[in-house]
Amino acid sequence: LTQRLSGAFDRFRGEKELTESNIEEGLRDVRRALLDADVHFQVAKDFVDSVRERALGQAKIADKGVSASDQFVAAVHHELVELMGPEDARLQMAKSGPTVILMAGLQGAGKTTTCAKLARLLVTKHAKRPLLVAADVKRPAAVEQLRVLGRKLNVPVFHQEGLGPADVCERGVAHARAQGNDVVILDTAGRLHVDDELMDEVAEIARRTSPDDQILVVDSMTGQDAVRSAQEFHSRLSLTGVILTKFDGDARGGAALSLKKVTGCPILFLGTGEKIEDLDAFSAERVAGRILGMGDVVGLVEAAQDKIDETEAQAQYERLVMGSFTLEDMLAQLRMIQNLGPLKKVMGMLPGVGQQLDNLDIDDKHIKRIEALCTSMTARERLQPDLIDMGRRRRIARGAGQDVGAVNQLLKQWKQMKQLMKVMKKMGMGAGMGSKAK
Ligand code: GDP
Ligand code: MG
Repeated sequence: LTQRLSGAFDRFRGEKELTESNIEEGLRDVRRALLDADVHFQVAKDFVDSVRERALGQAKIADKGVSASDQFVAAVHHELVELMGPEDARLQMAKSGPTVILMAGLQGAGKTTTCAKLARLLVTKHAKRPLLVAADVKRPAAVEQLRVLGRKLNVPVFHQEGLGPADVCERGVAHARAQGNDVVILDTAGRLHVDDELMDEVAEIARRTSPDDQILVVDSMTGQDAVRSAQEFHSRLSLTGVILTKFDGDARGGAALSLKKVTGCPILFLGTGEKIEDLDAFSAERVAGRILGMGDVVGLVEAAQDKIDETEAQAQYERLVMGSFTLEDMLAQLRMIQNLGPLKKVMGMLPGVGQQLDNLDIDDKHIKRIEALCTSMTARERLQPDLIDMGRRRRIARGAGQDVGAVNQLLKQWKQMKQLMKVMKKMGMGAGMGSKAK
């Protein structure tokens, strides 16, 4: 998806204005990219329509300083966030008596794990006294799994052998009331696929316990399947929210877009790992970032920006970081050291320097690779390498046809050289070796 989308953004390179025709071309790519990322076609269509409207609106009030690409990316980003929001969605709490939270979803979606994560959050952040109810009665292992999690959290787990799931839940709620637990979390059974038996079962639980929250737990890795099952659950339950799990994996993020639209419910949390503390409040920005490019929308916008006025951006950031040692400085240094072959040896003999130079093997091939990586960066990144986070590393590596390891290596060398420059400056050797000539 990312590559497709950057294809859409590339279209605008060099174009200064958004026009109806370049917007249409860009939208065609965006639509295709969304479909590829498991976004439902109706959702993709509606989305493209709203981006079109926004982009056309922007074209009218175009600001000369902002490139077409930049405006288009901004329109896409804005609509993504809009589509997935709102961000401040919360659990509904009961006005009186215990709040009942029903967790539903396919088998393996992460229900049981997420029940425990929610319980932890309620205890640590909201000073609640939750009760977990194990209603996955067919699989003894499921009950045990919840008990283990409950012990770890010091949260009680209710279960009663020999009862059907709805009975267990109903008694669980009564138990909570009697024991003074203010929140009851119902961990229900899942199936590999939606079937009537499963749907009847959760619908019955919902009917008997009147939950304040009916939360669908969805594995974000499952794409279109997730959307189809969400539709089914939505038709049988009155869903109040969605939790997307396994967002720490390679999920493409497209599911989040469709889910919001299909269920009409807010996305409440993102599961970001197997551990009990790996639960984050939903962030539309973050998911939009994932969809637009491995968390690196900012880099994209900057790259677009740089294309319009690389020199201006450069001058600006140079002023900003004057005197520091940039990747461009490093490249210049390396070229110099390469030309002055023996210098490396000389420098290597200086105290505190030799070690840092050890893994700076400098040959033509090496410099070519570094040059390729540097060209794949935005001007700002070259001048402020500290900005280069994981998302940016991926983009840079892809642009240079190298792997992320190469970017890591380059940044490590930059740090070493920077350190080295400091040492040399202190020793009064700064002249000619420091950063840019002033
Ligand atoms: P259930 O069948 O819906 O109850 O799913 P489980 O809670 O048993 O989870 C199924 C698997 O997914 C387990 O191995 C969990 O550790 C794993 N899991 C759940 N949530 C997450 C998450 O957010 N990230 C990752 N990486 N794994 C998760
Ligand atoms: Mg389970």
